[in-house]
Amino acid sequence: MNVHDPAEEIVALRAEVVQLRLLANNVPVAIAYFEARGYTCRFANLGYASMFGRDEQSVIGLTFAQIIGDEAARQIQPKVDTILREHRSASYERQLPAADGGTRWIEVSLLPHLDATGTAVGAFVLIADITHHRRAELALRESEERLAKFMHASAEGIVFHRGGIVTDANPPALALLGRTLPEVLGQPALDFVAPDQRERVGAVMAAGSEITYETAVQHRDGTRLPVEFIVRTMEHHGERLRMTIVRDLRDRMADQARIHHLAHHDALTGLPNRGAFIDRLEGLLPYARARGATLALLFIDLDHFKRVNDSLGHLAGDALLQTVAHRITSALRVGDLVARFGGDEFVVLLSGDQPAAAVREVAHKLLAVIGAPVEVEGASISVTPSIGISMFPQDGQTPDALIKHADTAMYHAKSRGRADCRFFEPVMAEAAYADLAMESRLAQAIRDREFVLHYQPQLSLHDGALVGCEALIRWAHPERGLILPDAFIPLAESRRLMLPIGDWVLREAVAQARRWHLAGLASVPIAVNLSTTQFQSVGFVDAVQRLLGEQGVEGRLLEIELTERMLMDELASVRDSLERLRALGVRIAVDDFGTGYTSLGHLKSLPVDRLKIDRSFIRDLPGDTGSAAIAGAVIQMAHGLGMRTLAEGVETAAQRDWVAARGCDELQGNLEAEPMPAAAFEDWLRARQSRQN
Ligand code: C2E
Ligand code: MG
Ligand code: MG
Repeated sequence: MNVHDPAEEIVALRAEVVQLRLLANNVPVAIAYFEARGYTCRFANLGYASMFGRDEQSVIGLTFAQIIGDEAARQIQPKVDTILREHRSASYERQLPAADGGTRWIEVSLLPHLDATGTAVGAFVLIADITHHRRAELALRESEERLAKFMHASAEGIVFHRGGIVTDANPPALALLGRTLPEVLGQPALDFVAPDQRERVGAVMAAGSEITYETAVQHRDGTRLPVEFIVRTMEHHGERLRMTIVRDLRDRMADQARIHHLAHHDALTGLPNRGAFIDRLEGLLPYARARGATLALLFIDLDHFKRVNDSLGHLAGDALLQTVAHRITSALRVGDLVARFGGDEFVVLLSGDQPAAAVREVAHKLLAVIGAPVEVEGASISVTPSIGISMFPQDGQTPDALIKHADTAMYHAKSRGRADCRFFEPVMAEAAYADLAMESRLAQAIRDREFVLHYQPQLSLHDGALVGCEALIRWAHPERGLILPDAFIPLAESRRLMLPIGDWVLREAVAQARRWHLAGLASVPIAVNLSTTQFQSVGFVDAVQRLLGEQGVEGRLLEIELTERMLMDELASVRDSLERLRALGVRIAVDDFGTGYTSLGHLKSLPVDRLKIDRSFIRDLPGDTGSAAIAGAVIQMAHGLGMRTLAEGVETAAQRDWVAARGCDELQGNLEAEPMPAAAFEDWLRARQSRQN
C-alpha cells in the first residue's frame, strides 16, 4: 500500500475497511469485539448483529448485556471475567430462540485481546451456529438410547460386533456367557462361541449373511449351550455393525427332552417305564448273545402295597413308591437298569455277567433295603417285596419271555409266604404254577376292578327280535390283555375268589340293564352266569332283591343262568331260591344244557324259563347224527315242559336253519354277533334298529 499521499491513504484505508467488512459479513461466523472496560461493543459483523436482531451500526457502543439480554449476560459474565483475568480463550454452547420459533444452538468462543503491555483490553467473540450439528447429534443420541433401551429390555441376548470384535452385549447375553461387559468388550466374538461351532459361525460372519441358525455358545465354565443366532447387519456411525440375537434354546430343548422323558419314563419315580426297559433290553440281548454273557432280570413286586394305598391314601402310596425306587437304584451298580412297570412292580436288569450266586446276593440285598421301614406321613410302614428272577439265556431269549418268567417266579415267591426271592424254573411254567401266579394276580384284579362285561345278543328264531343278552365277564389284564373266563373262573371258584367277582358281575349287569332301559335302547333281560358258590351263598336271593331295589330295576330285566349241576343239590332249597327269584320277576335259564345229568322229572318241578342247549351239540350240526338226536330231543322235551329253548354257539346258517326247523325258539352265537363291550353292543343295537326302520 502506498502511504505518502494522505488522501490516497484514506481512500486505501477505506477500501480496506470495506473489504474487511465484506469479508466479516460473509464468513459463516458471527464476530464481535468488546472493550474490556464497560464491555461495550466496538465491532460486530452482520451475522452477529442480526443474531440479536440488530444491524452492524446500531450495536456499536452497546454493552453486551444490552445486546444479548440481562439474563444471558449474567450467565456469561463470569466466563468473560475469566478470560480477561487469565488471558485464556474459552468457549461455551448455549441455546437461542430462533426466528422460526425453534431453538438455535450456538457455540461461542471468547478470545482475550492483549495490548503491547500484556494487559487484556478487550475480547473477541466468535459465534458459530451449530444447530444442524446438535440436531444430528441429538438424533444419534436418541437412536443410540433407543437401541440401548431395546438391548436392555430384550429378554434375549444381543451382541454387537464390528469386524468380529464385540462392541456391546446386553445383560441376557452376558448371563448366557457367564461374563461381565468389560470381559467381552473388545474381544473377538468367536471366543464366546462353542469351539466346535467356531468354523461355522466364522463362515457366517465372513459372508456377512443375515440368517437365523442354531449353534452353540460357550459359558465361562466351559458349558456348551445350545442357542439360536439371528444375525443382522446395521449401519452405525457410518460403520457396518453386526447385531446377533442370541436365543437360549435350553428351554426349548428341555421341553423336547421332557416330552421324550415323559414318554419313556414313569412320571412318579423318574425311572424308565416298561416300554423303555424292553427297548433297552432288546438292544442288549444281541451283545450278550455274541459275548456269551449272562443277564439277570429281577421282577420285584411289593407285598400288600394296596393296603398302604387304601389305608394311608394315594399320596402316602406315591411317597412309598418313590422311596422304594430310590432304594433300588441306590443298591445297584450304575450299569444296572431299573424300571417301573406300573403299580408296585419294578424290574431290574443286572448286566454284569453275574453267576446265579451273585444275583441271589443282589436279590437279598434288595429284599433288605426295600423292606426297611419307611416314614410316611408320620407313620412308620414297611412293605416287603417278592422277587422273581429269570436268567438270560437259559430262561428266555426275548425280553417278553424273560419278563414273563421272572413274573412267574415272583408269584411263586409270593405264594411261598412273600418277602422272598425265587429263580425261575421251567416247571413253574406248568399249569399248577401258572395257577399260583394267576391266583395271586386275580386277588389283585378284584381289588383293582380289572374286569369288564361283554354282552352277546340273543335273538328269536321266530321273528328275529332281540329277546335278551348274556353278560360275559372278561379280565382286562393290564399286561396280558383280555383274558376269557374259562382261563380264570375255575381257579377263582376253587380259591373262594368267585364270590366278590360274581357280586361285581351282578351289580354291573343290573346297572347296565337300568341304563339301557332308561335310554330306551333295550328292555330285555340281561342274563348273568352264576357260580355254584354264589348261588349257594347265604342270603343270595336277598342280595339280588336288594340290588334290584337299590337300582330301581324291574326283576324282568334280569335273568340268571344256572348249570345243571347247580340244580342237583338239595332240591328243596334250590327250588325255594328259584321260586323267590321268580317272584321278583327274575327269569331263570339252565345253561349248557345236555352236558349234565339232570333228570326230566327234576327239571319239571323247578321254575325254569328256558334251556340253553350246550354249544357242543350245536357245533356238529347238522351232520353229526348223535348231536342232532340230542339237540332234537332237548327241544321237544323242553316244549313238553313249557320251557323255551335257546341254541348256544350258532356259527353257521346251516346250524341256525336246522334248529329253527326243529322248533327251537332262540339263538345266541357268533353267526349273529359275538360278545361285545357295552358301547359296541349299543352301536350294534342302533344299527339294527335303523335297519328295521
Ligand atoms: P356260557 O355261559 O356257556 O357262555 C357262552 C360262551 O360261548 C361264551 O364264552 C361265548 O363267548 C361263547 N360263544 C358264544 N357264541 C359262540 C359261537 O358262535 N362260537 C363259539 N365257539 N363260542 C361262542 P365265554 O365268554 O368264553 O364264556 C365262557 C364261560 O364262562 C361261559 O359259558 C360261562 O360259563 C362262564 N362265564 C362267563 N361269564 C361269567 C360270569 O360272569 N360268571 C360266571 N360264574 N361264569 C361266567
Ligand atoms: Mg352262560
Ligand atoms: Mg352256555
